[in-house]
Amino acid sequence: MGKSQLFTQWYPSNEDQHVRQPDDGWLSGIAPGVLAYVRADEGWLAGNAGALVGRTSMVLVDTAATRARTQAMLGALRARCGDLPVSAIVNTHHHPGHTLGNGALPPTTTVIGHRACREEMLRYGTAPADPFPGIVVADGTGVPLSPPTVTFDDSLVLHVADTQVELRFMGPAHTRGDIVAWVPEHRVVFAGDLVVHRAHPNLLDGTIAGYPAVLHRLRSLDARVIVPGRGPVCGPEVIDDMLAYAEFVTDLAADGFERGLTPLELASDVPLGRFATWQDGERLVANVHRAYAELLGGPACAPLDSGRVLEDVAKCRGGPLDAEIYVAGDDLSV
Ligand SMILES: [Zn+2]
Repeated sequence: MGKSQLFTQWYPSNEDQHVRQPDDGWLSGIAPGVLAYVRADEGWLAGNAGALVGRTSMVLVDTAATRARTQAMLGALRARCGDLPVSAIVNTHHHPGHTLGNGALPPTTTVIGHRACREEMLRYGTAPADPFPGIVVADGTGVPLSPPTVTFDDSLVLHVADTQVELRFMGPAHTRGDIVAWVPEHRVVFAGDLVVHRAHPNLLDGTIAGYPAVLHRLRSLDARVIVPGRGPVCGPEVIDDMLAYAEFVTDLAADGFERGLTPLELASDVPLGRFATWQDGERLVANVHRAYAELLGGPACAPLDSGRVLEDVAKCRGGPLDAEIYVAGDDLSV
């Protein structure tokens, strides 16, 4: 099946596709002025977000995949904190589940992210592109793409009222441009998708080989609380889960590569052990594709043949991804 046929299958037209309106998530107070917004919904685009609340304005840490989800989060924030304006958005990385909702905020809102985050958003967002073409089509009909307008390479410090927020590039891992928002006063870190809780991490756009070093760097912050990119708020012990997973994929891929198995053959028939109950198990095959590319000498974060990878992902999942969220619906086009 060619890539375009595959995507046609995954992303049917609005006329014959029910567009799910997710219940979205809930706010969780982490520390004074630090809120996590946790989305319970399963799926590749259901990323967590958060807010740093000052006296006269607030800063969002990521938004959502859609306008409706972003507005749901803003509604929850206003109900809790009053009608404070959003002065800025920090994007932890470029993936649409964390960034496409930027465009639901006024265009005067400052958007901050790593230089690579901006580059990747522009690359993904201006034409039908992998791996989320449904979202990109939606972008063309509704929410404007709103990439970072303030970028940095290594670090940047924000001051939200009296609270210092350190934005730090952690090195390529989940993507080329992963940053965390570290609040040292409260020892809270918004980790983006460097850490996901009770789910397989997604290294399709990243690196298996480089992931452990970044996780060790994250652990060196000595955070008390981690707001993961996915799943419930957690503690630093989840970093160990991510390290164990990276080791599992590394060993698995080395063995499969040696035996001449394809990523799909390997991932379809492997005991998952402690990872069997984690969500998004189909991400394993994508991660094996990444590991194989690195075993062949490919550089970190180099684009893969994502049509082929996503075809394998669909086979492992036993069906399409959460297409009802990905398609262009009224969620995105108003
Ligand atoms: Zn991501």
